[in-house]
Amino acid sequence: MAALLEAIELTRYFDMGRKQRVHAVEQLSLSIAEKEIVGLVGESGSGKSTLGKTIVGLLDKTSGSVKFRGETLPQKYAPADFQRLATKMQMIFQDPYSSLNPRMTVGEIIAEGLRLHSDKKAPEIKETVADWLLKVGLQANHMSRYPHEFSGGQRQRIGIARAMILGPEFVVCDEPISALDVSVQAQVINLLRELKETMGLTLLFIAHDLSMVRYVSDRMAVMYLGSLVEIGKADEVYFDPRHPYTEILIGSNPEPDPELERSRPSTAIQGEIPSPVNVPEGCRFASRCPRVMEVCRHTTPELLPLKDVDRQVACHLYT
Ligand code: SF4
Repeated sequence: MAALLEAIELTRYFDMGRKQRVHAVEQLSLSIAEKEIVGLVGESGSGKSTLGKTIVGLLDKTSGSVKFRGETLPQKYAPADFQRLATKMQMIFQDPYSSLNPRMTVGEIIAEGLRLHSDKKAPEIKETVADWLLKVGLQANHMSRYPHEFSGGQRQRIGIARAMILGPEFVVCDEPISALDVSVQAQVINLLRELKETMGLTLLFIAHDLSMVRYVSDRMAVMYLGSLVEIGKADEVYFDPRHPYTEILIGSNPEPDPELERSRPSTAIQGEIPSPVNVPEGCRFASRCPRVMEVCRHTTPELLPLKDVDRQVACHLYT
């Protein structure tokens, strides 16, 4: 299938002064096919959100590039780029409490993209907002209310309507359910899946919950300290992980189905993810890896295809 979006050796650093910099995303390449859902997993601090924001242009690229339908996007977006690309790429944020302006009505929040990026007139905008409120499971008369009048799940629905109203082709969903009660998580996921089908969307779905990612995604990509360490079909990665980090991450993630839970080895991940400031040479997982070898401490493993399965893994155990 043709790639809709490609990140090519994408790098994003944050300078901290005194010659220190955070290597949030480093030389990361990822290709996402049209109408595909790629789930991106990894601990907090692995750079998942930074990757999502850099891909959609909310953060400038330090180096590397992003292509959308073969067109190389600017390294740094000018206002005209945001204007043009807002109808192609959007982002849904993790926290529906802080991502909605409390001083704007729900109608104003959802309409903002159309006001800025389309030539629709006020009555047509109002009608489109009313339609979108219904599509995300709210009511048209909610447009005159303010965000604080809604629950977390409802606010995320408002965030989804705001992102979808311009009819994007590609959406980064940055932990869209992590801040929600478990009881409403499935409803929001089902809404996203429904919209994916009806709108023919391509999604990068960032999440902590690996079993949810397996359920939602076609492929699963595992990120550790700014780099991808494994990528493959979501089910296959989940049930047959090959990178030591993926094994531990999946082993420590509780499986909601008790039968599946019993069939999986349970492991706990040791220690904290190291600081992404001035990262060491070699494999970045070496300080926590139970299978570390001498070579791992000085040579960075490349993400390479495995011979026996359709998978790419960055680990010296396979080279
Ligand atoms: Fe572990 Fe070495 Fe593989 Fe890194 S390269 S994950 S340290 S075995």
